[in-house]
Amino acid sequence: MTKPRQKRLAIIITAGPTREPIDPVRFISNHSSATIGYKLASYAAKRGHRVILISGPTQLKAPKVYKLFRVDTARQMHDAVIKNLLHTDALIMSAAVCDFRPRVVSKHKIKKGDKGFFAKIELVKNPDILKKVKMIKKSQRIVGFALETKDLVENAKKKLYTKDLDFIVANKIGAQSNPFGDNKISAMILYKRGGISRYKNISKDILAEVIIKRLEALWN
Ligand code: C5P
Repeated sequence: MTKPRQKRLAIIITAGPTREPIDPVRFISNHSSATIGYKLASYAAKRGHRVILISGPTQLKAPKVYKLFRVDTARQMHDAVIKNLLHTDALIMSAAVCDFRPRVVSKHKIKKGDKGFFAKIELVKNPDILKKVKMIKKSQRIVGFALETKDLVENAKKKLYTKDLDFIVANKIGAQSNPFGDNKISAMILYKRGGISRYKNISKDILAEVIIKRLEALWN
């Protein structure tokens, strides 16, 4: 018997960092390059899925997808995800969303002499997108990422359950491993139903294929 064709899925993929402005020329961000998110989007589109790519700022050329939304801040990413979620089958949150943003954004460029401002940039928490998703999702399958400097398995497991994910992709950052950019990485996938898959020193192209195939398998 021939295997039925893979169901064509509508998948939101978030990629890259967010930027949280301090003033018109400065921001808080992180080292995310959007590489894994763009590779996921590209491979999922090749597999015939309808990809909605929600991208933070990056130098990379965006892959050809069904829809592309460009955002800067975590709040913009949050709004774009929530707006599209109910019309989709799955969400892959590979973006490195900034957890904090400056409470006040200066209208004018802050001057060197403005000691008060530099001495104290007050931060407030950004919305946790997956927390909101957990409250409103219907049957959507959700994939998260965890990048940790220590206690990788414990931290990833905690996120898997508190964020109610179907699986989480976890990798470590440290002196021996730099997961940013187009480097080979070692990663783990932890599943809600239990079990861990481990991948040592693989390219992000291969990791993207693995993640999309694992996602597809949730419908088989
Ligand atoms: O920030 P944390 O390490 O908990 O992020 C783990 C997962 O949560 C990632 O998939 C990330 O994209 C997502 N996240 C989110 N909203 C945030 C921060 C992270 O959805 N504000």
